[in-house]
Formats: sequence, C-alpha cells, structure tokens
Amino acid sequence: MKYQPVIGLEVHVQLKTDTKIFCGCPTKFGAEPNAQTCPVCLGLPGALPVLNRKVVEFAIKAGLATNCTIAHRSIFARKNYFYPDLPKGYQISQFEDPICQQGWLDINLDGQQKRIGITRIHMEEDAGKLVHGDVSGLEDGSGVDLNRACTPLLEVVSEPDMRSADEAVAYLKQLYQIVTWLGICDGNMEEGSFRCDANVSVMPVGSSTFGTRAEIKNVNSFKFVKQAIEYEIERQIDLIEDGGTVVQETRLFDPNSGVTRSMRSKEEAHDYRYFPDPDLVPLHIDDSWIDQARTEMPELPEDRKQRFITALELPEYDAEVLTASRSLADYYEECLGFHPNAKAVSNWVMGEVTRNLNDSATAIEACPIKPSQLAELLKLIDSGTISGKIAKTVFDEMWKSGKPPKQIVEEQGLVQVSDTGAIEVIIDEILAREAGQVAEYRSGKDKLFGFFVGQVMKASKGKANPAVVNEMLLNKLKG
Ligand SMILES: [Zn+2]
Repeated sequence: MKYQPVIGLEVHVQLKTDTKIFCGCPTKFGAEPNAQTCPVCLGLPGALPVLNRKVVEFAIKAGLATNCTIAHRSIFARKNYFYPDLPKGYQISQFEDPICQQGWLDINLDGQQKRIGITRIHMEEDAGKLVHGDVSGLEDGSGVDLNRACTPLLEVVSEPDMRSADEAVAYLKQLYQIVTWLGICDGNMEEGSFRCDANVSVMPVGSSTFGTRAEIKNVNSFKFVKQAIEYEIERQIDLIEDGGTVVQETRLFDPNSGVTRSMRSKEEAHDYRYFPDPDLVPLHIDDSWIDQARTEMPELPEDRKQRFITALELPEYDAEVLTASRSLADYYEECLGFHPNAKAVSNWVMGEVTRNLNDSATAIEACPIKPSQLAELLKLIDSGTISGKIAKTVFDEMWKSGKPPKQIVEEQGLVQVSDTGAIEVIIDEILAREAGQVAEYRSGKDKLFGFFVGQVMKASKGKANPAVVNEMLLNKLKG
C-alpha cells in the first residue's frame, strides 16, 4: 500500500522587543541566570501583568504579512500546567479568539505554487529554562533560569496542508523570511528565536481521513526539520505495515542519531483547562491601529521580488537570490542608486559579494565594501579603465584593505591598456612566436582563436583591453 504524509507546523517566533510581554524586564540573550527578572515574570503572588504594546504591533504586522484577518477583539487565556520552569503554574497564551486568524502563504517548490493555510497566530509568553550540570557550585545540580520567562512569542499554527518534508521546509523558510524581513524576530535559530513543532501523520493514498499524528517538538534548524519529518514518516509507515498502530504522542528529534523518540503522551487542549485570564482585559484593536501598522510595514519580499523582475528587468533567479533577505535587497538597491545598471550590479552582488561573505562568515550588514564603493568599481569597468578580470583582483584588495578602488588601481598600476600601439607590439610578438598555430588557424582551425587571446592577455598581465585585443587579433590573423 502507498501512503500519503500529512504535515502541519506550529512555529514559535520570539519577538525582538526590548522588554518582555507582561513586564519591563529586558529580553537580551545571555545574561547571568535570573538577572532579568521581577515579581511579574517570577510569578510571585499578587503581581499583575501589563501587556507590552509593541508585541501587539508586531503580531498585527505578522498577521498582515501572512494574509490573516486581524481580530478586533482578542482574549488572553491561562494554559494550566505544572513544570518547574513555569512558576505561576500557567502560561499566559491565547486560546479562543487569537489575534490573527485564517491566513495563508503561497510556497514555490520545483516551479509549482501551493497555498498553505494558516489557522491562527496568537501571542503568548515563553517559559523559563532548566539548567543541569554545574549549578551554583553543585557538580551534578539542577537550576532554573527565569530570564526567558515572559519573553514574547508568536505561535503561528498552519493547517495540515503540507504533504512532504520539502513542502514543510519551504513553508518554514518563507515564514522565517517574512518575520526577519519585518524586523520582528532576530531569526537566531541557534538561540531558539525561531523553532518549530511538526505534526506528522500518514494515511493510505486516496483516503481523506487523516491518520493519528505524532508531534515532534522544538526543532530549530531547517535541516533537522526535514530529517525529523522524513524519519517520522518512515517510522509510522513501517509501524502500520508491521500491523501496529500509531499513537498520539509528543516526540523529540535527536540530531545526532537522526531519529525521533517518544517523550510523553500528547495532551489534548482540554487537559490544559484554558480559561480567560482575569488579570488581563480583552484586547481591542481598532482599524486605525491596523492601518498604522500597515503603513509602517516594509515592502514585503514577494512584492519586492516581483518589482525587481518587472521594473528592473532582472531574471527571476536574480530577483529571488537578491530578496533572500531585506538587508541584501537593500544593499543591492543602494548600489544601484550609485550605478544604475541592474544586471551588472546583480551579477557582482550575487557573485563576488555573496561568495566573500560566505567564505568569511560575514553578514551583509557588516560587508567591508560599501555599496558606493562597489558602484565605483563597476564604473571603472564601464569606463574601460580596468577589465572585468582585473576588477576581481581590485575587489579582493578592497575587501582586505578597505581602500577605494581608484587608489588600488593607481597604486598597483592596473589601468587597462587600450592603446592599440602597445597591444599591437604584444600581438606581433605572439604571432611570430606561434607561427605553427597561426598556420593551423589560417587553414581553418577557428578554435585556436581563444588560445591567441589567452596568450596576449597573459603577456599583458591581464591589463590589455579584451575588446581591443579581439578586434586586432581578428584583423592580423586574416593575414
Ligand atoms: Zn519581569
């Protein structure tokens, strides 16, 4: 029998606010344990939460960017459970009436577009963290760090619309691009700023009844999401084929072994005894607030990509690469402002700039070559001062020394030779030296032309103007 996987994702997006969702404590990562806490986030009796307005703004923006309806009235609820990292005994979240509802994202996979539904986006607080090992002088101790408690999160819940691990990863990458692009999440997956729970089930092909699902918790890299889902699909199919049944449970993915392991039986919503939090009044959002958020939003990645294709006439591939992040698209457009040649700038940003950033593990924001300097370099090529080949040498030197391209060209004597007299001398020398090849060329071996060009360029140390060399060589070789 053939099986069809069914996948839904719940993504936790940590919001990039300066302070926590219900108190004024800072959210900065990496502080001393419990240094960023107060009675509210420690869950002390009688402490009252006050909603951070910024969190609502960010949630509205996330909702608008994912085609959701923004609820004019939404409710905070208590999700009751006990765990040592949650001192109140409940997490403040949203249950009925979340802030964003019924959205979607279109993913592209192998040239095929597919719409993935978004059921809801709700706001909630994060829990603290348990630390094991060397804690407060105890070699084998356990401690609780509540710095993370009350950190604002959005939970983005998709419909079970994905049918393969690749679709799940495509959806996840698109969501990641949007929240980082909006500037509401720092996107640091290693620190847990963007993590995902995957609900996976399988059913016989042709069936419309979903199988029992297992939830894989807290996967924090695209690669692991793919591995975890693929493993889980195989595991469930094997289980069913062997006559077993899939049980509803929560599983953990172990990146070292590549397998998922049962963690606990899965809770149902009613296990949490949700009820409206009496400490927080219903949240009212009027149209003017939504409009305000909309006007503050940047042009979204898909819109920008389309503009690059239509207004700048870039190939779709270029537009896609250049809009991978907002910073990269900004860098590209800034450079274009100084040197309005869309394709030439695109080639350099996608080529040399990206390659050097990757090799040195540098973010585009910290690129040592400013857009204006790159533009200056491209102008030197356009004016014929240097060849495209030499430009790469100049680029490397700019990257290392930070010197302006003109200065490098002057200091190293890299100005392109377009003087026909000088080039003719070189060509005559080469043709005299390679008399045999010249004869072969003249007897019809056209392919040798590249050989002569190469020899001339080499003899000129790359400085001869290739266009001039080509033209003169053609004439001379005609004989
Ligand atoms: Zn606090």
